[in-house]
Amino acid sequence: MKEINKIIKSLNEIPEPFSVDGIIKIFENNSKKIIKNFAIYFYKENGETILWNISNNKFDLKNGFKFQLIARNYNFGFIVIESEAQKEYLYILINHLSLILYSEKLSFLANRDKLTGIYNRGYVFRYLLNKEKTKEIYSIVIIDLDKFKHYNDSYGHNVGDYILKTAVKVIKDSLKKISYKSIFARYGGEEFIIVFDIKSKKELFRSMEFIRNKISETDFSTEEFSLKATASLGGAIKEENISLDDFIDNADKSLYKAKQSGRNKSIILN
Ligand code: GH3
Ligand code: MG
Ligand code: MG
Repeated sequence: MKEINKIIKSLNEIPEPFSVDGIIKIFENNSKKIIKNFAIYFYKENGETILWNISNNKFDLKNGFKFQLIARNYNFGFIVIESEAQKEYLYILINHLSLILYSEKLSFLANRDKLTGIYNRGYVFRYLLNKEKTKEIYSIVIIDLDKFKHYNDSYGHNVGDYILKTAVKVIKDSLKKISYKSIFARYGGEEFIIVFDIKSKKELFRSMEFIRNKISETDFSTEEFSLKATASLGGAIKEENISLDDFIDNADKSLYKAKQSGRNKSIILN
């Protein structure tokens, strides 16, 4: 029982942001003493079952205990465990694991944008409001795809969605290559926001140009249409004593200027 409590404690201590993979990894690392091998399966919305994780490909599933993953009457999969521990103890553990996985699902639904999977506007506002209390210097960038309406009007909404998803992928990949910490969210329709741990205008501009160039270099073509896209970026550095509203307004003004001066540009006014 002591070991089970230890695993439960480790699951409770996972820091945000959570992820299903992160939760399973913590579970795996902390349960080695009592669980030799395990496999986790999830049910998809279309009724299919997918194997999400197996700790060892040689694990003979027929010799494992099978537990349903159920939280608040919602059955989202099952786990097969090869273990030395008593089954009643494992029930307690799996109940807890289910709750933790379920809480991640709820948090994902509440904080993420459905189309692209990145954070939504609500999440980034809560994040910024918390950050405002810390008085630290950081920056934001608003990215707006250029003439986006044209893609919907000329090629259809599905192509518009495809361009949005591709742009998100390009921006995500760019952020991995930028060494500053960032939070990336969908701000509105074809607008995104990045909160950067960047304190200097020069560094912020460099990062914005890196992203802008990556987008303009990307091939957005579908099977049917040959397509390119560009974006305009407006940045702002948080000054001391400026309100969150004014800070975001500064980035908006920068973006407006980027649009006015011909699009496919990065501007920081302040
Ligand atoms: P600008 O260069 O000035 O930003 O022009 P724009 O056409 O990008 O700007 P505008 O605000 O006129 O149009 C944005 C369009 O984005 C309008 C809306 O239909 C489209 N849009 C918003 N959300 C979505 C979405 O989720 N999917 C698709 N396909 N289109 C979307
Ligand atoms: Mg817009
Ligand atoms: Mg636009």
